Amino acid sequence: MEPPCPVFDSHVHIFPDNIGARVVAQVAVGLPLQPSYDGTRAGLLRTMAAAGIAGSLNAPVATRADQVATINTWAAAQNRWPMLSLGAMHPDLPDAPAELRRVKELGLPGIKMHPEYQAFAPDEARLVPIWRTCRDLGLIVLLHAGNDWQFQPPCRAAPAAIARVVRAWPGLTFIAAHFGGTDLWDDVARELLGLPLYLDTSFTVGYLPEAQFLLMVRKHGADRVLFATDAPWQDPPVTLAAFRRLTLTPDEQHAILWGNAERLLGFGDKRQ
Ligand SMILES: [Zn+2]
Repeated sequence: MEPPCPVFDSHVHIFPDNIGARVVAQVAVGLPLQPSYDGTRAGLLRTMAAAGIAGSLNAPVATRADQVATINTWAAAQNRWPMLSLGAMHPDLPDAPAELRRVKELGLPGIKMHPEYQAFAPDEARLVPIWRTCRDLGLIVLLHAGNDWQFQPPCRAAPAAIARVVRAWPGLTFIAAHFGGTDLWDDVARELLGLPLYLDTSFTVGYLPEAQFLLMVRKHGADRVLFATDAPWQDPPVTLAAFRRLTLTPDEQHAILWGNAERLLGFGDKRQ
């Protein structure tokens, strides 16, 4: 038997040590789940070790524009194997392209944005400078997609709005979290599957029926699907065990667990 392939978790969250436990406890109120660690880097690394996850990607969300620069400076200090980090961005930041150039100079691979916490729709005109600059600088955009259980539907990050951005910005590397739209699977199938964007698996494995998940992976293409847990919101050991039980082919498993993220983030040379 071959050893199981290495695993990269493309969507996790940590917070500065002094606020991690408080932020995680606050966000967890009213959610139908138990956080899997205390929101700190050390807590995440322990959970990754317990799960057998080799590397991960932190996805910081700025809830106010005036937090963006501070978060990015912090994220750059955290951006080291085995936990790489995206930067933050906010649609209300006055000179977003300048901060995106700083994100690039800091060595961060891209940004995370969250349409609910940041009150925007992906296809609004005011986002154009952000999408254009990310495309020009080769920065990845990870976008929350679909419903967020903290907010009342309808959601701002609907699959149709995401599809319009993907079509409008060829060359922009776009990852839609939660397989393109939590709770909106008919819209995801109609609007997004097969388009040139990446979809992460957070809140699908363990939530969707296996047959439906496999159908979605194969309709979209396993070469554009990224294993992700949104930890601490899903439990990495439980989620990875559930993923390994799926009847994917070894090639599909390898692509989703490791190969696609390695190609996207180029972490081969960051692993020392
Ligand atoms: Zn998340």
